[in-house]
Amino acid sequence: MKAAQEAFKLGSPWRRMDASQRGVLLNRLADLIERDRAILANLETLDNGKPYAIAYAVDLDLVLKCLRYHAGWADKWHGKTIPIDGDYFTYTRHEPVGVCAQIIPWNFPLLMLAWKFGPALATGNVIVMKVAEQTPLTALHVASLVKEAGFPPGVVNIIPGMGPTAGAALSSHMDVDKVAFTGSTEVGRLIQQAAGKSNLKKVTLELGGKSPNIILSDADMDWAVEQAHFGLFFNQGQACAAASRTYVQEDIYNEFVERSVQRAKSRIVGNPFDFKTEQGPQVDEEQFKKILGYIKSGKQEGAKLLCGGNPAADRGYFIQPTVFGEVSDNMTIAREEIFGPVMQILKFKTIEDAIERANSSMYGLAAAVFTKDIDKANYVSQALRAGTVW
Ligand code: ADP
Repeated sequence: MKAAQEAFKLGSPWRRMDASQRGVLLNRLADLIERDRAILANLETLDNGKPYAIAYAVDLDLVLKCLRYHAGWADKWHGKTIPIDGDYFTYTRHEPVGVCAQIIPWNFPLLMLAWKFGPALATGNVIVMKVAEQTPLTALHVASLVKEAGFPPGVVNIIPGMGPTAGAALSSHMDVDKVAFTGSTEVGRLIQQAAGKSNLKKVTLELGGKSPNIILSDADMDWAVEQAHFGLFFNQGQACAAASRTYVQEDIYNEFVERSVQRAKSRIVGNPFDFKTEQGPQVDEEQFKKILGYIKSGKQEGAKLLCGGNPAADRGYFIQPTVFGEVSDNMTIAREEIFGPVMQILKFKTIEDAIERANSSMYGLAAAVFTKDIDKANYVSQALRAGTVW
């Protein structure tokens, strides 16, 4: 904390730095991450269990693009001039917030770091980041690259601590100006409360989801099946925006279900360092047990288990790609975030019916619609109450 405050003091090297130079440093950091791409992808796979090929090609690619994108923003952070009555000259000037605590989860450890570093550093803030206790390794390597890139000391501070101690200390700290959090809805509530009870620091939250994916009967079947599969099973199903309620129009329901089951059965689960592997283990025992508990509840509440449903190996936290059909909206597996490789397929009749049911959720993170009709795509995407609609 002291180091961060020191780095943010007026007149410090960081505060005196030209905006364009902040962009140069961010680009340099991206270059160093690119240089160490294989090391970082290895660490990410060891820590998180995601397939190495995906960590290398997808996660690292997005990390680099994110940092370089924000590097470009550093000197393009415009204010406005505002015409007002009278003899006044009125303008806004964007200024850094100050010490930003950033608390991130384990599902995309490096990408979450990049999403939080990029905007905060481009705009001249200083960071105290608490990484997830399950996956601290890549952030610690990046910390050494931050130093190598030439960021002044104290601008970036990384703490590999536990949530209820280190995370809670940051969210209730009187000298933290902002907390940016990605993680569970439950902890998001605690963070907002802690901010309210302490210094009313600014809070941004990116929380859970139970995102609907609506497949209309005119959709391209091959594309819709593959994308629905990807939307749910990507990253072992451990994605906040996972398309975890697949609504399928009744006239294509049977074919869609059959093909989705085939696709799930062909998904390659195994050693994440094997290049053929599509799905590695879940992150830890807690998640593994939680997911198996949801599968049990799906069976008990009357959903039809079409494939999977069990651990995929006799050791490790591997779970078979699982598909449930005949799911109804009130079942636990259709309401709660499972965060695992478990797909729920629900049937609908009319577009209006699908929209109403899709919106009937405490979440609103993401949604998707598949159709070849641009009018329907626009209609549905505007009716869906979600932050992002694909
Ligand atoms: P997940 O279910 O994805 O593990 P969490 O919300 O539990 O999500 O964790 C996301 C991040 O929040 C992690 O870095 C974790 O250590 C942190 N965290 C957990 N509990 C708290 C808390 N009470 N206050 C602040 N941060 C916390």
